[in-house]
Amino acid sequence: MTPPPDLTLLDSAGKDALILALIERLNDLTARLEILEADNTAFRAENPALRAENAELRAKLNLPPKKPDNSSTPPSRGQKGSEGEQRKPKGKPHAGAHRELHPHPTRRCDVAASVCQHCQTDVSGVEQTAVHAYDRIELPEIKPDVIRVTLLGGMCPCCGSTPVAGLVTASGRTPGARYLYCSLCSTAWNHVRAICITCGGSRALSLKAIDEDSGTARAETCGDCRTYSKVLYQAKDMTVDPFADDLATLGLDLLVAEAGWSRHAPNPLVLVGKS
Ligand SMILES: [Zn+2]
Ligand SMILES: [Zn+2]
Repeated sequence: MTPPPDLTLLDSAGKDALILALIERLNDLTARLEILEADNTAFRAENPALRAENAELRAKLNLPPKKPDNSSTPPSRGQKGSEGEQRKPKGKPHAGAHRELHPHPTRRCDVAASVCQHCQTDVSGVEQTAVHAYDRIELPEIKPDVIRVTLLGGMCPCCGSTPVAGLVTASGRTPGARYLYCSLCSTAWNHVRAICITCGGSRALSLKAIDEDSGTARAETCGDCRTYSKVLYQAKDMTVDPFADDLATLGLDLLVAEAGWSRHAPNPLVLVGKS
């Protein structure tokens, strides 16, 4: 600190100069004090936010490390638990907790003891009684059940002629089955639905019908061989006839023929083609 001057040595002009210097110093200090007070106010205002942030970070630091069971970290990337973490011991099976013996085991296996468990004496020649029994369950070897399915073509099994149309039954022993009717000898035979009767394909089949029709007759078109065959539905009309209704639905033939499909086989009574 600066020692005060000896005022008795100062004359009037010296005292005036001292007063002016002190006033100037006072103004300077007042300005600096104002700056410091403003800073102090700002720091005080910022303090609660910083305290909260600090507490949050501390809380985060105290959390256990992320593991697969408390985060979305996959097990392969998870951290191992800390050394002090105790694994839950496996529970011991309590007395009488064994699986009940099956009433009809597939086969039995008697295992004789060779030596006494206590004194190690050879007991292989001694008559032994059952001490404990349990079921060892073995699963049988799984063998593939290979079924060779051969799809039969759409030719009359009787005379070898082509069918006229297919009929999907709505009654009888196999409702919903498709029967093809021979155009020559009228034999009917079953042909799996959704399998083209010309090429046996099933990938690109679709059914087409005339919009305002009753839905009794539809054309099953095959994108693989570009043919179609007619399917008649007994469920729509119980009196439907594969011969009469094939002829009665020539409009459907014209529709699909115009769209570029060829009939699977010509109707012996009427021929409908693209040209
Ligand atoms: Zn036939
Ligand atoms: Zn086909």
